[in-house]
Amino acid sequence: MRSVIMHAPGDVRIAEREYPSILKPTDAIIRVTAACVCGSDLWPYRGLDDAADAPMGHEYVGVIEEIGADVKTVKPGDFVVGSFMASDNTCEICQAGYQSRCVHVEAMGGIGTQAEYARIPWADGTLVATPGMPDPDLIPSLLAASDVLGTGWFAAVAAEVGPGKTVAVVGDGAVGLLGVLAARQLGAERIIAMSRHWDRQELAREFGATDIVEERGDAGVARIKELTGGLGAHSVIEAVGTQESMMQAIRSTRPGGHVGYVGVSHDVELPGLELFFSGVHLHGGPAPVRRFLPELIDLIWERKINPGKVFDLTLPLADAAEGYRAMDERRAIKVLLTP
Ligand SMILES: [Zn+2]
Repeated sequence: MRSVIMHAPGDVRIAEREYPSILKPTDAIIRVTAACVCGSDLWPYRGLDDAADAPMGHEYVGVIEEIGADVKTVKPGDFVVGSFMASDNTCEICQAGYQSRCVHVEAMGGIGTQAEYARIPWADGTLVATPGMPDPDLIPSLLAASDVLGTGWFAAVAAEVGPGKTVAVVGDGAVGLLGVLAARQLGAERIIAMSRHWDRQELAREFGATDIVEERGDAGVARIKELTGGLGAHSVIEAVGTQESMMQAIRSTRPGGHVGYVGVSHDVELPGLELFFSGVHLHGGPAPVRRFLPELIDLIWERKINPGKVFDLTLPLADAAEGYRAMDERRAIKVLLTP
């Protein structure tokens, strides 16, 4: 079968790999209907993470082809959505809602879902079947639920977004934009999207942003303070993962407020004394997407939300290299790959 491999930074190719097989009785094999390129795939692409001959992709929707002997809740022929972290969904950590840190967690990135087929560990815990075969126009939104929507949603929950709150969102990639959508769904009164790209600003507004701030860094913080009577936002979503974005998020939050951080941290170091006096709550990490999947699938199935709009470029798997280039050069917000 064909699969996307990153040979080295900037070098993405299609390779032939063996058809995956059931390795454990809790595994399932899916035929991937749609996969995509993640913002986090750009870290190795840019040489900031290791990338030697790595299978790529951790977001997926598909149809079950085969199940292991112990799999009970999904069956061949089911259309399924799963998280980018496979989890048993039964251990204490999963039961508390932190499936991305399950005691049996397996990162789907190590398996590679930018491929025609994929093995899904802990199929019962990881996969959620949709009520039936989805209409084709729902597939991008269901795929978004696999990571970027679930991650934006977790960021909003971690930032304690709710009715009457003012929310600021740092980062205008797919996760930041879907953090805006989540904040809207969770009842935020005011949502400030931080973006300097008009097309992303437009989508942010469509998803529910009430204000746009183009400034970044300290100037962005000053602007957020100006918009919130000098106090800062109640809830801030951090969806980038750099020193600048993390400090921008913390400094934009009012004392007693909450930061939900989901940008994969790269060389971020927090100054202790500033953190001490900020009085803000910090919560984040790899999103436990599985916690939110049933609710997100319902919202998509009933056409109450349309997160699939973040995909502004669709390419066949064979053109994955162009997909990576388009995202790296910020010509595309998010690229959908069809095997
Ligand atoms: Zn678990």
